[in-house]
Amino acid sequence: MRISDLHMHSTFSEDGEGTVEEICAAAYEKGACAVAFTEHWDALPADHVELPFGDSREYYHLYDAAARQAVIDARERYNGRMKIVYAIEIGQPQVCASASRSFLDSHDFDFVLGAIHATPEGLDYYFVDYDRMDFDQMFRSYYARHLDLIRFGNINSIAHMDYPVRKMERWLRKPASMLRYKDEVAEVVRLAAQSGVALEINTNGLRNWFGRLSPEPWVLELYRAFGGTFVTTGSDAHNTDHAAFGIREARELAESLGLKTVSYYERRQPVFD
Ligand SMILES: [Zn+2]
Ligand SMILES: [Zn+2]
Repeated sequence: MRISDLHMHSTFSEDGEGTVEEICAAAYEKGACAVAFTEHWDALPADHVELPFGDSREYYHLYDAAARQAVIDARERYNGRMKIVYAIEIGQPQVCASASRSFLDSHDFDFVLGAIHATPEGLDYYFVDYDRMDFDQMFRSYYARHLDLIRFGNINSIAHMDYPVRKMERWLRKPASMLRYKDEVAEVVRLAAQSGVALEINTNGLRNWFGRLSPEPWVLELYRAFGGTFVTTGSDAHNTDHAAFGIREARELAESLGLKTVSYYERRQPVFD
């Protein structure tokens, strides 16, 4: 089975812990034939709240040229053995649409992973005080903003469609399900399918408290029913231990639902092999 890990972070992300070289080596060792470095770049409102990790855009721009060069070097090292995809994980780009667009236009990324990481106030869902949160309102807004993410365009795949769940162990029951928001989720996957945007099967949950892949199978089934045909698979690794983690399970899930898995992207086009 081909192992494509199209969601990994290196030290060119503000919260990444392994170099491109180290992460490539770890993924290759685990049988990966394609990897994508999807470093963080999150658009935020001008009056955003204080950020515990700082501004990912400022961090990324410090290493912009180095990040690209590291991918080129890795391509030479793994030539013919493993594809290395130059990519970005862009967070809520619609918040600063024109700055986000010029950022993407000025880079020759092969793959753009779109995410909603932050609340409308600009706080990452990792740092939200859930004791003071109205969950229904939060998740409805979270999915509504996915519609804006797809309408922004330029997105190849949508990352981790239940991201806040990662930090909600004290508040949600296991297994945590988004079925309560089925109507909102359906709108997102319908628009994604119509727009040729893939869904990502993210494996973080397999090593997290809720113990399952994201999104849940019913979400992928809906996507398929709306005409979606392919998904991407990603570990969301921020260190070498997690590189290529759970990708086999993700691919098996896709296959069991009749969905193809993208091997890698080249100039924003999916390649299946
Ligand atoms: Zn993410
Ligand atoms: Zn990520």
